[in-house]
Amino acid sequence: MDIPFTSEEDGKDMKDVRCKKCGRLLMKGEVRYIEIKCPKCKHMQNIGKEVIREKELTF
Ligand SMILES: [Zn+2]
Repeated sequence: MDIPFTSEEDGKDMKDVRCKKCGRLLMKGEVRYIEIKCPKCKHMQNIGKEVIREKELTF
């Protein structure tokens, strides 16, 4: 199974962006490429590339 809680209330392409180190929710939405620092554990991370790859879905 993937994710136990799939809330599709928004109906949009809102993705959870979580800290890769501690798992804290940093933001929601679609990101091209950002560098963000986790306010909890101060872990600096780059986010974006993986999200873009998911858009290569063919209909
Ligand atoms: Zn963190």
